[in-house]
Amino acid sequence: MPIRKTYEFEGVTGAKVGRFNQGINTQFIVYRMGETVIDTGPSNQWRYVKQFLAQQPVEQLLLTHHHEDHSGNAHHISMAHGVLPRAPKLAQDKLATGYKTPYLQRLIWGSLVPVKTQTLREQESLADGSKIIPVHTPGHAKDLTCYFLPEQGYFFSGDLFIAKRLKLLRSDENLEQLLQSIQKVLKLDFDTLFCPHGGIIKDGKSALQEKLNNILDLCEKAQTLSKKGLSLEEVTHQLLGPEDMVAKLTGGNFCKTNLIRQGLHISLL
Ligand SMILES: [Zn+2]
Repeated sequence: MPIRKTYEFEGVTGAKVGRFNQGINTQFIVYRMGETVIDTGPSNQWRYVKQFLAQQPVEQLLLTHHHEDHSGNAHHISMAHGVLPRAPKLAQDKLATGYKTPYLQRLIWGSLVPVKTQTLREQESLADGSKIIPVHTPGHAKDLTCYFLPEQGYFFSGDLFIAKRLKLLRSDENLEQLLQSIQKVLKLDFDTLFCPHGGIIKDGKSALQEKLNNILDLCEKAQTLSKKGLSLEEVTHQLLGPEDMVAKLTGGNFCKTNLIRQGLHISLL
């Protein structure tokens, strides 16, 4: 599909792409601030990402993590604009060799095109010299690194936020680390959150705080029901309803039960 929506907010522009139009898990917004691009969109949408990026030169590409919707076009951008993308150290090997993508993800996004990268530095900057601070936020993925722009009060959240409510968890996600990462980010001074799936959120810090509260609340409810003797499946069903198509299509890799299973072990002190 062509560019589905464009965004413009105080120096940031964005283009939403996606093969399917089935909500936030199938759409991706590529953001740029002048010559700096953050994440690339999926490789099956390269035609449209290319159009968006052709509007002005790209001097710098920063990646948040190795997932194919975020880094799928890094190789193409690297070739088209002559930039060597910067990526978190923990992402670099996977980006260089590529990796096997599960069927559903391949259908939605296409696969990652392997790409050579250089390691992110402790601090990066925009062309005007203003700071970009990489913030390591594991949980969703070990390498996930968000970008904090203190002068602008901006936070590019990779896959840390996505939505105020977490309903599913991938089997390789770590809920405890995710909660710690959100708490770490809530100490930063920012207003606007740029989510590649959910869009631009002006009161981004409150939205992230709400997400944290919702997860903790869910964990507390799950633990209470579990103490009453309900099984994992019963707790999941009671709090989140039956598993949906995504769970079936991913063979249980991305499902509600994963979330509750980990939620039962979260310390709520
Ligand atoms: Zn991801």
